[in-house]
Amino acid sequence: MIIIMLGAQGTGKGTVAGLLTEATGWPQVSTGDIFRKNIKEETELGKEANKYIAKGMLVPDEITVPMVIDRLNEDDATNGVILDGFPRTVEQAEKLDEILAEKGKKVDLVINLTTPREEIITRMINRRVCSNQECKATYNLRMHPPVKEGICDKCGAELVQREDDSNEESIRNRLKIYDEKTSPLVSYYESRGVLRTEEVSEAINRLGKDVAEDILKDINNK
Ligand code: ADP
Ligand code: ZN
Repeated sequence: MIIIMLGAQGTGKGTVAGLLTEATGWPQVSTGDIFRKNIKEETELGKEANKYIAKGMLVPDEITVPMVIDRLNEDDATNGVILDGFPRTVEQAEKLDEILAEKGKKVDLVINLTTPREEIITRMINRRVCSNQECKATYNLRMHPPVKEGICDKCGAELVQREDDSNEESIRNRLKIYDEKTSPLVSYYESRGVLRTEEVSEAINRLGKDVAEDILKDINNK
């Protein structure tokens, strides 16, 4: 099953994707995580991508698309995959449709997470991620803090703030790009009958884990 996580920054895409991966065994393919791993390891791809990421800009498709194709060709992605952070533009969505068609597959479900904008900014400022690249668990200092301050519950590694979350200009830039380039994907997938919109909001006491539970119930009943 090919599942796409859609939604602005800070809506909990990574959290929901992680829970779906745990329950289904289908890998979470996060383009942001792949980029950050390459940046840390100082690969050529990482150096090139970081020129854009540090400013909160999209990495060009010439770099991003081949990287996703390679990842989807790996053995563990045969039965299903949870795409988190790709596609992010209509061009990327069209490209993905082509890539999947070649494999006789299609996008089965697009989970569109929505969160009020004022909550999003607070969530991004309070986001912390596990520094262990094999774990990458995400936390929120307000909504789901780690049991022990600064330490990942799952693996014991140090929690850090992403560089692009520590700078307000980058946060604003990324939200602007989301509105302009990524939000048209809502109608793109709606017209294909695969969109499922879910609100994640502290104000209505509905968190990523609640959304993931509901989705898993539906997947299991199919
Ligand atoms: P966020 O959603 O909080 O911006 P991600 O981890 O998804 O974080 O992505 C971090 C950065 O990686 C983005 O700001 C962008 O520069 C780059 N990136 C991730 N996915 C893509 C993509 N599909 N196309 C272009 N750039 C991407
Ligand atoms: Zn961890």
